[in-house]
Amino acid sequence: MKKILIATRNPDKFREILYLLQGLPFEFVSLLDFPDIDPVEETGLTLIENSTIKALNAYRYTGIPAVADDTGLSVNALQGMPGVFSARFAGENSTYADNRRKLLNLMEGVMDRRARFVTVVTFASDKIYHFTGEVEGFITLEERGSGGFGYDSIFLYPLLGKTFAEIPFDVKNRISHRARAFSLLKKFLKAHEGSFSG
Ligand code: IMP
Repeated sequence: MKKILIATRNPDKFREILYLLQGLPFEFVSLLDFPDIDPVEETGLTLIENSTIKALNAYRYTGIPAVADDTGLSVNALQGMPGVFSARFAGENSTYADNRRKLLNLMEGVMDRRARFVTVVTFASDKIYHFTGEVEGFITLEERGSGGFGYDSIFLYPLLGKTFAEIPFDVKNRISHRARAFSLLKKFLKAHEGSFSG
């Protein structure tokens, strides 16, 4: 079976991506199988740049077609911040809770609470392809729910009237930004199954 390399060392992320891509006739491996590859610095200023850096680096080192993703929360009233800096919004070693607190503080008294999660997935082989998934919602006034991770507990998904932290895992995995981007990749891989050397 042809291989596709998922360019992550995070076993939870790998598991989630396997779930999103299930049913495809490829063998998926992760960077955990390639301990000699140095981690790349995510020096890009956009989600596309960072996901491309990660996917290309993995493909160049291994010759295996590689997939990487990068996600950000873009808040209208903050001109798109934290965006590409979502993971380190409150500082280099900030926790999810630090980042949420910083965002809620910045949004205190702000009426326009529109926000969107955006995921860019990059597939790198002979050529490079990008797939984008987005979900629109609102930043809540306070934390709600205990599921999920990152900004989930302060992101209200209006169609369900709940935050992503109040929605069961399998439901979030059908509607999320990441699910949407990976479903586009899945369609693409199905259509081009025979054309990659992996
Ligand atoms: P990554 O590119 O997937 O590593 O995501 C970057 C940052 O965005 C993470 O550290 C989280 O803070 C945030 N993030 C990514 N995906 C989600 C999500 O599904 N819910 C909430 N926060 C997320």
